[in-house]
Amino acid sequence: TSVTAVDDCLFCKIVAGDIPAEVLHSTERTVAFRDLSPQAPTHVLVVPRDHHENAAALAAADPEASAELVRTAAAVAAAEGHDDYRLVFNTGSGAGQTVFHAHLHVLAGRSFGWPPG
Ligand code: 5GP
Ligand code: ZN
Repeated sequence: TSVTAVDDCLFCKIVAGDIPAEVLHSTERTVAFRDLSPQAPTHVLVVPRDHHENAAALAAADPEASAELVRTAAAVAAAEGHDDYRLVFNTGSGAGQTVFHAHLHVLAGRSFGWPPG
C-alpha cells in the first residue's frame, strides 16, 4: 500500500525524515511524533506513512492503517504514563484542520472539558 509522498505536504516530509521531528514510535504503517505547539503536557500526532487527506479518506483506502493509527495512539499514551487521554481528528478547515495529511492528535496530562468548544 505504498502511495507516493506529496511534494508540498509537511507530514509526508516528516515521515520521509526531510523535516526533523521528535519521533516517539513508529510502526509499519504509522509514525508518532510530538506536536510542535503542544496543547497539553502530552501532545503527539500519529500519522499514516502514506498520504491521505483526512481520517475518512484513510479509513476508506486503508482500514488496517486506520486501525493501526488508533493502536499506536493508545501505545503512545501508555508509554507516556497516561490512562486517560483524548484522541482528535480535525476534519476540514472549519473544524480546525490545517495540515491535510491525516493525523490523530493524542492529548493527555491535563483535564479536558466537554463539549470541547
Ligand atoms: P490540525 O490543526 O491540522 O488538526 O493539526 C496540525 C498540527 O500540526 C498542529 O497541532 C500543529 O501544531 C502541528 N504542526 C504544524 N507544523 C508542525 C511541524 O513542523 N512539526 C510538528 N511536529 N508539528 C507541527
Ligand atoms: Zn502527506
